[in-house]
Formats: sequence, structure tokens, C-alpha cells
Amino acid sequence: MSKLTLAQEADRRRTFAIIAHPDAGKTTLTEHILLAGGAVRAAGAVKARGENRRARSDWMKIEKERGISVTASVMTFEHDGKMFNLLDTPGHEDFSEDTYRTLTAADCAIMVLDAAKGIEPQTLKLFEVCRLRDIPIITFINKLDREAQDPMALLDEIASRLQLDPSPIWWPAESGNRLRGLAEVGGQGRFQPYTRKTADNDGEHPAPLPFDQAADFFQGTEQADMVDALELVEAGYKPFDHQAFLEGHMTPVLWGSALRHFGIEELLKAIGEWAPPPKTMKARKEAPPETRNAPAPEDITVEPSKDEVTGFVFKVQANMDPNHRDRIAMFRMASGSFKRGMKLKVQNTGKQLSVNAPIMFFASDRELAEEAYAGDVIGIPNHGVLRVGDSLSESGLVRFAGLPNFAPEILQRVRVKDPLKAKHLQKALVGLAEEGVTQLFRPELGADFIVGAVGQLQFEVMADRLGEEYGLDVMFEPSPYAEARWVSGAKADLEDFAGKYRPQMAADIDQNPVFLAKSSWETGYVAERFPKVAFSKTKERG
Ligand code: GDP
Repeated sequence: MSKLTLAQEADRRRTFAIIAHPDAGKTTLTEHILLAGGAVRAAGAVKARGENRRARSDWMKIEKERGISVTASVMTFEHDGKMFNLLDTPGHEDFSEDTYRTLTAADCAIMVLDAAKGIEPQTLKLFEVCRLRDIPIITFINKLDREAQDPMALLDEIASRLQLDPSPIWWPAESGNRLRGLAEVGGQGRFQPYTRKTADNDGEHPAPLPFDQAADFFQGTEQADMVDALELVEAGYKPFDHQAFLEGHMTPVLWGSALRHFGIEELLKAIGEWAPPPKTMKARKEAPPETRNAPAPEDITVEPSKDEVTGFVFKVQANMDPNHRDRIAMFRMASGSFKRGMKLKVQNTGKQLSVNAPIMFFASDRELAEEAYAGDVIGIPNHGVLRVGDSLSESGLVRFAGLPNFAPEILQRVRVKDPLKAKHLQKALVGLAEEGVTQLFRPELGADFIVGAVGQLQFEVMADRLGEEYGLDVMFEPSPYAEARWVSGAKADLEDFAGKYRPQMAADIDQNPVFLAKSSWETGYVAERFPKVAFSKTKERG
């Protein structure tokens, strides 16, 4: 049992995600953060763990074949009195929807940039989601052991493209073969030397020392040049302002090399000191389902130190263990003190669950969670009771909104080769849509299902899983549709619109109406003709 108060427990949680363009070094950095946090003992452990996991879930053959990580999970470790929950987001762009949803469970993001490449397309997309959700961002510029762009050019790119004030905490003394180390900007003037891995040196970096005592680590005029550079940096960039960071106006910038375990302690320290603990969340208090003359929902705020356990499901993961057909719902806690065996209720259905086997994803292994607090993520095994976007609480009345669904960019028809299995297919498709693997649209007319995805790879994962888990041999066929838009508006306006476009109307798995457009031109056209109907590209679930 914890000796700390609820507020203290919440306060020492740091729940964060890493956002990066593929190849910027997110996986390597994850591993080295775990190493610095004492959660794993040797480099390579994350990958080994990944392989282990893959061996246990053979439906993820694609993951293995393509060497990409498709599933997102969380890794928890305790370091320096703080509990860190690192949310792992899949890097492949086809899975951006999954990544977006994972970000709804994070309180802070680490933005990793490749020092030679700066901001890349996927960095930008993910950054926008963080901005939309007011998630503060710590920047880590990686791969300093390789020839990098001019550091000032990198910071100026952050300022101009992200409209974010970069505040360098350290400054790199060169890069690539000439990388000498990192000098602290302002303040105490420490220097963190860099040591290359050579035949007689295993690449451990010496302890930091005062900059003016670091002459041994420089050559020629390098140290004097660095003094000049630091003066320019201090004059040119704003000093770090914690409040501006929390409000999303400023990003502290750290540097290093994930691969060489350089600059990682500094990063972990920055996360511990500056990343916000779980914040007070907005929610609604609803009437119990099926209440007659139910009172209107009430807007409430949920403090992390509130007694009642509340939270939401941001991801459902299938079949991590092939011996169980259970799915694991990833539940992000917003408040309360969770104890194993507790009963929680699903807000929208009123169903009650006894959470007897919650899982904490400690970096080293999965363990049963005895207790958990705001900011923590626990895995709740269930048989399809929990869906992405569900709110869970002790009272069953608290509802969090805001898990986005994004309009799919590819819409296909799916058919099963054996027509006798059509019913079976329907069930499987609903299951996969509930997990958020793909989206499912049921046209109002006709019997075909339309499956939507943000990227092509999602269809492959889907076909693979339909085969392996449900024994269904399926074919995808082109559909006549190019776009899907959620429609909303006054009842009469909606009926007027739907009446004219009946063959193109469908429902998603939550029975929300969707318009399937044959082209983006058509989307524009109907939006103009029916100005009272809103056609939206995203839907907030929950
Ligand atoms: P992800 O796609 O963002 O998860 O990137 P990975 O962590 O898989 O890294 C992509 C490639 O960059 C791999 O070959 C890594 O070994 C390499 N890499 C990652 N960090 C560094 C670094 O700091 N320096 C160098 N030289 N290579 C790195």
C-alpha cells in the first residue's frame, strides 16, 4: 500500500509519448530511456521483448515481416521517485490514427528530430495533434553522432514551422566525427563530454564537469569558439519558461544520440522535472442509462486527486496471448486510487466489470496491477465489453469525450470467399472496428460492408487477422467511394439530405450517420448545397 496521499501519487506520475517521423530514432530512444531509467539492463532489451511478444502473437506476422511495430503499448518504470508511463506509438504512417488516439492518453510528448533532417512530414502531423490537445512538447534532436544541420537552423525551423519558441537547454559542440559534447546554456555552465566508441573504449561518456575545466575535450580554438557561440545562443533564444512550456508556447530543446546513449540522462531529467503530472480533465456527469426523465448531463471537472476511479479506454489490443481470446483494453486513469478487484462501470452501457486481473506493463515484464493512480495505464482483459472511447468509473456516470476518429482515406468493400460465412464475417468486422483496427460502414441500402482505413497497411493487418483469428478468407474490392464524412445537423435538415442521397448513406459502428462521397469534388458539392448540414472529417468518440 502506498504511504503517499492520492494527490502525491498523481503528482509523481509522468505519462508521455514519443512522436517522430519514421527512422528518426524513436525505438532506439525508447530503449535508451528505459536503460537510463533503470528499467532494462542492456540495450537490445526492448527489441528482444518485442520479438518475444511477436512470438506470442503470430497474427502479427506482418509486424515481423516488415520490421515495423504495429501495436501500441505502454511501458512503466519508476525512477528517482517518479513513475514514468511511456506510451509507445506505432511509427508507420498508415497507423497514424492509432497514434493519434494514444496521444489522447499522454500528458506530454517528446518530439524526436533527426539532426540531419529537421522537421519531417510525419513530425508535423503529430505535432498538430499535440497542439490540438494542448500537450506540451520537449524536443530531442537525435543522431548528433552523425553530421548534423546547423543547430541554429534547426531551432529556427521549429520556430517558423511550428510557431513554437525553442529554448535550448544545452548546445552541441559540433556533430559527427567532431562531436565533443554538450554545453549547458546559461546557468551553471556545465559540459557533458562525448566519447566515441573505439577498440579500447566502450563509449561510456565521462561525467559532466564545469565548462571552463573541459579544455581537454576540445581541440584548437574549439572551446573559445564555443564560448562565442553560447553568447549568441543566450542572446538569441528565450530562457526556458516552465509556464510557457505548459501552455504550449515554448519547447525546451535537448540534444544527443540515442544510439550512443548520449544526452539521455539529461532528457529523462527534463521529463521528470518539467513534464506535467496528470491534469484536471473536463468531463460530463450523465444520468444512469435508461433513467426516465433523465436530468441533462452536467459539465464537471475531474481532479486527479478525486477519490472516485475514472478514466477512459484509448486502445483495445487483441490477442496478446494466443491462449486467451481476450482483448485487452488500455485504460488511462484520470483520477482515484485503483485497487485490484475493484468494480468499474462502463458509462454508455451501464455494464459492470470486476477488474480482477488488471495488467501493468512494467518495462521488464507484464505484471498484475495491485494499485494504480491518475496518469497510469492499466490493461483490462475483457471479452469485447470495452471499446475504444469508453469511459469507466466507479459510479458509471462520468463520461470523457474527445477520442477522435479520422475520416478514412481508403474505402473498400470486403467479401468472404465462402458465402456461407457472411454472418461470421459481419461479426469479425464489427470486432475489428471496435478495436479500432479499421472502420466499418454499413450502407443503409444493400448488404455490403464498406471498410475504411487511413492507410493500405491497415487492410493487410485486417486480412491477416481475419484469416488467423476468424478463419475467414476474404477479398477486398474497390468501392465506388473516395471519402467518408460524418454528418450532423438539425433532424429535419439531416432527413432532407439523407432522403436525396439515400444510396450513399451509411452508419458507423456507433450508429452515427455517414455520407459516402464518390469524390472529394462531391463532398464539396453537397456541403455547398446543404449548408445546414455539417460534413466532418473527424468524429470525437466516447
Ligand atoms: P524509428 O523508426 O523512429 O523507431 O527509428 P529507429 O530507432 O528504429 O532508428 C532508425 C535507424 O536510425 C536505426 O538504424 C537506428 O540504429 C538509427 N539510429 C537511431 N538513433 C541513432 C543515433 O543517435 N545515431 C545514429 N547514428 N543512428 C541512430
